[in-house]
Amino acid sequence: MFKAIVLDKVEDQQTVAFKELDEAQLPEGDVTVRVAYTTMNYKDALALTGSAPIAKSYPMVPGIDFAGVVETSDNPEYKPGDQVVLNGWGVGEKHWGGLAEKVRVPGEWLVPLQAPFTPRQAMGLGTAGYTAMLCVLALEKQGVKPTDGPILVTGAAGGVGSVAVAVLAKLGYEVAAMTGRPEEADFLKMLGASSIVDRAEYSEKGRPLAKEQWAGAIDVAGGQVLANVCAAMKYRGVVAACGLAAGMGFPATVAPFILRGVTLVGVDSVMAPKAERLEAWQRLAADLDISKLEQLVTEVPFDEVLEKAPLMMQGQIRGRIVVPVS
Ligand code: NDP
Repeated sequence: MFKAIVLDKVEDQQTVAFKELDEAQLPEGDVTVRVAYTTMNYKDALALTGSAPIAKSYPMVPGIDFAGVVETSDNPEYKPGDQVVLNGWGVGEKHWGGLAEKVRVPGEWLVPLQAPFTPRQAMGLGTAGYTAMLCVLALEKQGVKPTDGPILVTGAAGGVGSVAVAVLAKLGYEVAAMTGRPEEADFLKMLGASSIVDRAEYSEKGRPLAKEQWAGAIDVAGGQVLANVCAAMKYRGVVAACGLAAGMGFPATVAPFILRGVTLVGVDSVMAPKAERLEAWQRLAADLDISKLEQLVTEVPFDEVLEKAPLMMQGQIRGRIVVPVS
């Protein structure tokens, strides 16, 4: 038997509870992993609070990522005792996920834990941190260099944003951190931000083209914020968009794209190919100051995860949450 959070549906209402499950109930897969650490990402908070239809079937164990140790494996790439990490692939949505002491998955979804990270550090980063690195890689692949000018990071005090600020600063970029929480300014400067931008300046409908300010941007907000970010890019600036914290809409004009040659790059972590996952994790290992990582992380006991989810929906969580499981 093992402990898990289980989402269920009763008369059209989603329920959520801790349950004891039998290993025989685990879904199909050739690798069984004992979860050491998991985390709470924005998508997990959406699932746990029932704020969006993240679970595609019921009963569902939520948790879109985990780090742990292989217990049994029929996959030639993994043997018992190997330390592994999983991000995405519909885990916690279509396939039972990481908010559990045990998971069973196809081995091809796993990546080996990258040195020097411990399982706790890997989940300190979690899918938010891995996505932040995919966004940094997207800017690099479009040719954005530190000498081109400042990079704007939205939702900077949240999970993706805080890791993006720390990595970009270490790589030598000048980072402007946008936040709706001015009280987090010192935290953001400690991570390496050179300046703080008030989210309110980007939240109302703006002009199709604003003053050219940013050589690059990493956006977790979407909605009006993303439209205004695009309007404030320098000539040939690049925006990596990965989130919808401000909304799913995109009330923009084509002006930044056709008059300034701005590039908008979409970043998806869920189905990203294995080579890109490995590249992102290897670059996190190389380009993130581990002492900063510790300051980003708050540890939440497994039993208290349900109480934290609404706070994340209200944008009240600073940095990353890590959850020791077993
Ligand atoms: P967090 O909740 O940790 O951070 C989100 C941050 O967004 C908040 O801390 C807040 O930062 C900011 N924010 C909240 N509300 C608004 C608003 N109305 N307007 C502008 N900013 C706002 O979440 P994560 O960092 O884990 O995820 C961020 C986004 O990225 C989510 O939408 C998530 O779904 C998405 N995501 C996408 C992935 C992908 O594969 N494409 C993978 C991972 C995440 P502050 O207080 O500093 O302003």
